Amino acid sequence: MKAVARWSLPVWALVSVTPLLGLRRRPAEVYLGALNPLKRGSLVNTHGPHLSTRDGHLCFDDVDLVELAERLPTPFFVYSAGRIAENVATLRDAFQSRHPKTEVFFASKACSALWVLEQVKKAGVSVEVNSGGELWKALRVGFTGGQIVFNGVAKTRGEIEAAVTAGIRAIVVDSFRELERVNEVATDVGRPADVALRIDVRVPTETHPEMRTAHGGKFGVDLIDAAELFANACSLGPVKVRGLHLHIGSQITSVEPYGRAVEKALDLVEQLEASCGEPLDFLDIGGGYPVPYVDAADACDAADYFCATTMPHDYAEAICALVGARCPDLTLFIEPGRYVVADAAVLVSRVESEKRKRLLDASDHPVGDEHWLLLDCGYHTLLEAAVMQWRYRTVSASRAGEPPDASFRLGGPLCDSADVHIGDRGTLYSRLPLATSIGDVIVFRDVGAYALDTMTQYNGRPRAGAYAVEDGRVVVILRPETNEDLVAQDVWPAEPL
Ligand code: PLP
Repeated sequence: MKAVARWSLPVWALVSVTPLLGLRRRPAEVYLGALNPLKRGSLVNTHGPHLSTRDGHLCFDDVDLVELAERLPTPFFVYSAGRIAENVATLRDAFQSRHPKTEVFFASKACSALWVLEQVKKAGVSVEVNSGGELWKALRVGFTGGQIVFNGVAKTRGEIEAAVTAGIRAIVVDSFRELERVNEVATDVGRPADVALRIDVRVPTETHPEMRTAHGGKFGVDLIDAAELFANACSLGPVKVRGLHLHIGSQITSVEPYGRAVEKALDLVEQLEASCGEPLDFLDIGGGYPVPYVDAADACDAADYFCATTMPHDYAEAICALVGARCPDLTLFIEPGRYVVADAAVLVSRVESEKRKRLLDASDHPVGDEHWLLLDCGYHTLLEAAVMQWRYRTVSASRAGEPPDASFRLGGPLCDSADVHIGDRGTLYSRLPLATSIGDVIVFRDVGAYALDTMTQYNGRPRAGAYAVEDGRVVVILRPETNEDLVAQDVWPAEPL
């Protein structure tokens, strides 16, 4: 079960936590979570999955993160095999218990490290890919063609050829022109191509504007054109239309848009089946299932997409009821990414510098000051923090037993003003223990999705490594880069073409 804090305590409080799975663990006392700066002196206290404290240090899956940071170059990611398995099981059970004909395809764009793909494979689910590279990785870890669906708006001939050759479950066709291209490639390769047609259901969603994907943007074909696309597809020899695909966005914190999207898709399924007399195999409703990135449900308002109080069973209840009532024989595909991996990883970073800077009023008179902590982790490691203004909760790993009783501004190391971390609840400030200082280890929570794959080397910074806790031991899953990696692709001196 995903832990969603629904309570806020009026005083500093201790919570006894006995983590759920696997290793021998001690009950622990934790001070985790952010203090709402507007409610000074009150602690919104929660515990995250697989987080605990021991001897004043934060542990993840029972591994002391401060000790780990003594041994490894910071910043680095730590994943939990146990949490990935729990998240897969929660989602799969929510849907399959209501609509047994549900298949889960992990959206590998959320994290395509081979170890992560292997974990979801071991958990018994399939995979969704978005490029020839992700397809190659999926095949590399042993997914069969039948376990792969391939999305994307601009697939190259080479990518389509690889998909057709692998005999994947479905190439999700995004446009009329792409349908022609799939047909040409399949004809050349001499193999059939199973496809699904991506439709733009035009359903508004309350999420980050750039995470809305069914609103007239670049994805899919309009509903009113879907019948024509379908007819075209059915007339092509090697192309077999197996299903429809939609995806309304990411971090969708209410159930209602799914209901509207699925209703529209089912209308189309019925229309297409009536016109061609053949049933479709599946409806793929994409991903988007949300993760809570803030502590207190009581502070949530509907427009704040960092708050997620809805759970997989809420989505499953609504969606499966619709499918069961109208098309009970239709297989349902879901493509979760974020939900599977977000809270299955933390990012461990270190305070490298600190300073106090004055706050000035409009007449440049000092009216207070700000305490800055400068970390070794910036948006080269957490790109979404800058690109999407994504908020991650921070916790002191070094002082996990101390109350977060002071406000700090957190900055990264990059030579860019945008390289600052958004504070608690969208404020400028993060609450951490007063004594937090240089050398302390700071942990960013819920960073498992869309971080590893979006790291950059900007500013000449080698990409961070990633480790995982698996069967009670820490394993390396992504080697930390070195300075040599910064120039690995450089051709210098330059060579003639
Ligand atoms: N499926 C498709 C087609 C997507 O574009 C995405 C990401 O936006 C996903 C699935 C996964 O979404 P999420 O990580 O929010 O579950």
